[in-house]
Amino acid sequence: MPELPEAETIARGLDAAIAGRRIERIKIHRDEVVEPMSPAVFRRRLRGRYVERVGRRAKWITALLDDGGRWVTQLRMTGRFTWGSPSPLRAEPHLSASFVINNGDASGVLRFYDTRRFGRMWVLNESQWAEIDARLGVEPLSEELTPGSLAELLAGSSAPIRNWLLDQRRVAGIGNIYAVEACYRARIDPRRPAGSLERNDVRRLHNAIRRVLGRAVDRRGTTFSDYRDVLGAGGEFQNVLKAYGREDEQCARCGGTIERIVLAGRSAFFCAGCQV
Ligand SMILES: [Zn+2]
Repeated sequence: MPELPEAETIARGLDAAIAGRRIERIKIHRDEVVEPMSPAVFRRRLRGRYVERVGRRAKWITALLDDGGRWVTQLRMTGRFTWGSPSPLRAEPHLSASFVINNGDASGVLRFYDTRRFGRMWVLNESQWAEIDARLGVEPLSEELTPGSLAELLAGSSAPIRNWLLDQRRVAGIGNIYAVEACYRARIDPRRPAGSLERNDVRRLHNAIRRVLGRAVDRRGTTFSDYRDVLGAGGEFQNVLKAYGREDEQCARCGGTIERIVLAGRSAFFCAGCQV
């Protein structure tokens, strides 16, 4: 499932491909991709618009349009964009939407594929986007997230810290892979109540979140199966994961054994030897 580093990589690729270009044609192959909007309204709001820039907020891809609107996409489990040369806009397996975009002299085609069909995209006005934005927590790589602001957010929570990190209303963009890795690097047991972290724990966690996410952005995300950037390349962070998916392997730090447990229905991986 794409998290912050994957969404960031996709957004950068889209920005390079379509910023400054005009959206000429739109085909919705599966209506649910724009729900609860109707395909007709979606197309009307997007057709003819220029894309000013493409960015990311939490795990959302947001394209700012020349009329102030936002074309926003939630990739969810398996949503994926591809950018390529034009070919007929025909139905293909898992193709949810396609866009002909004027690319200077020529046109290119942006396609959105989604095997599991949970991905959504909408065209919103400024206040509609502001409502969504306001519900999302702080950006973990921004200057707003400091050890002090993280401590304030954590205070009083009895949720296990791994689960707390997945709550998009607190800190936005972190999913299971990076929550597990951040706990490992901070030497914090993922089951510990979030509110029980002491000042030094919070400082280590803050540092770990930023390092893990920053390095994952540098390596263009983590690819286990579906995730690809807009040109079809996978990420490389899966090669340097220290805990996630490493059940029964040796801990690189203390020589203990990485264990897998289930928290809130999802796997967490940690080393009982050095995460307390
Ligand atoms: Zn260890």
